[in-house]
Amino acid sequence: MTNNFGGKPHVLILGGGSVGLTTASELRKTLGAEVAITVVDPRPYMTYQPFLPEVGAGSIHPRDVLAPLRKILTGTKVVTGSVTRISTQDSTVVVTAEDDEQLEITYDYLVVAMGAVPRLLPIPGLAENAIGFKQIEEATAVRDRILANLAEAATTRDPKARKRLLTFTFIGGGFAGGEAVAEAEDMVRDALRYYPDLHASDIRFVLVDGAPFIFPELSEEQRAYVLAQLRERGIEVKLETFLNSAEDGVIKTSDGDEFESDLLVWNAGVKPHPVLSDPDSSDLPVVTERGPLMGKVQALADLRVNGAEGPLDDVFTAGDCAAVPDLASGEGKFCPPNAQHAVRQAKRLADNIARSVQGRPLVDYYHKNLGVMATLGMYKGVALVSLGDKKIDVRGLPAWAMARAYHVYAMPTLGRKASVIAGWATNLISRRDIIGIPEVETPRAAFEYAANTGKKK
Ligand SMILES: Cc1cc2nc3c(=O)[nH]c(=O)nc-3n(C[C@H](O)[C@H](O)[C@H](O)COP(=O)(O)OP(=O)(O)OC[C@H]3O[C@@H](n4cnc5c(N)ncnc54)[C@H](O)[C@@H]3O)c2cc1C
Repeated sequence: MTNNFGGKPHVLILGGGSVGLTTASELRKTLGAEVAITVVDPRPYMTYQPFLPEVGAGSIHPRDVLAPLRKILTGTKVVTGSVTRISTQDSTVVVTAEDDEQLEITYDYLVVAMGAVPRLLPIPGLAENAIGFKQIEEATAVRDRILANLAEAATTRDPKARKRLLTFTFIGGGFAGGEAVAEAEDMVRDALRYYPDLHASDIRFVLVDGAPFIFPELSEEQRAYVLAQLRERGIEVKLETFLNSAEDGVIKTSDGDEFESDLLVWNAGVKPHPVLSDPDSSDLPVVTERGPLMGKVQALADLRVNGAEGPLDDVFTAGDCAAVPDLASGEGKFCPPNAQHAVRQAKRLADNIARSVQGRPLVDYYHKNLGVMATLGMYKGVALVSLGDKKIDVRGLPAWAMARAYHVYAMPTLGRKASVIAGWATNLISRRDIIGIPEVETPRAAFEYAANTGKKK
């Protein structure tokens, strides 16, 4: 690919997620046609991940949490492909497109925003049997699998199969995992009204976490409140417990428990995109010490990448793949990986690129945490809101309403906000959908069956 941008600086953004999308739109707002912008992402859309637990619970339609990059970023080139090599030495990035074609793209400014991927452990059966919860197809598949299992369990006569179908296991009780299991359990309880043959006592939700608590970002009292609430709802929360094996869907945990489960959702942590720390693929400086920052791109507070010989003035980074100093929390602290920081860092980053283009001094990223909030099913939630030095504890319906309102505000595009709200309104009238369609993964099966049944042996 030749770079011909009419003498304009070319800003190349790797990743079209929270950081990539926000950076591109902000740059367009501040610099207009002064710069050429390219966004590279294997997916043609940005996923608003905080809404995935509600997608997994059938409260939000999957497409409503996707922001189409080409539609939003008019005037920006969107390349659908995966970044496979980054050379800051040559100011060049290699992108592998869907058809395996290798595109070489040069840049004047590079923004590294490739986010994170699930951190897997070498547990027997995990890679073969588990599903993640970071992508739209994963959340949708979890919803479809759970709902389809209810329908199958209601008709099966085999008690062992029925038990397996109705056992759902979630590993990891951070915000993403905790919300995912709480929302899914809420969906099942709601759906059971249509299944006279199934009872709440037939359903088993298990949440496993190695830590002594779940929802680590909450206060101690709030953690106890959430734990009690989940347990009251029948979710078995196993703390200080590890998954030992998941071969053939047989779950073995470190507390000696062993059971069959038809669904295993892995939410036990993420790591920065692996291309960034692979020396054969990238020459970006990454954190090498073991710990939560390992593999993240080293950033300065002004979001430039910090190389061994000092800042790289043309390379910026932010979001889940970056170790960004958290000046608001004090010396030696780094921003936690969440959308709250990702979007704000992106705005600072875009402004700093504009400043660099215009020869003005860069400004450090500074953001005081606004707090955290989670939905735990319809009308249930918890939030810890920071107001100055005070932390306000909000629970139940007000926390749930706050979380929904905040995420609608943060969801990109007016159209998508409207769709999410319209979906919620429809659910209020007709209740949420209880149909699971796992067959979407095999759309040709019915056609192939019809073709084969006509064949003579
Ligand atoms: C289930 C769930 C719930 C969450 N809930 C909350 C919440 O309530 N509040 C909150 O603040 N945060 C929440 N988060 C975290 C938040 O979504 C992330 O911190 C945020 O999206 C990080 O933004 P990012 O741009 O760094 O990464 P992402 O938004 O993940 O974007 C990374 C992009 O890089 C792209 N990419 C991947 N590989 C390549 C490649 N090879 N080449 C090019 N591009 C590539 C990806 O397709 C993706 O579009 C949640 C996350 C999950 C998974």
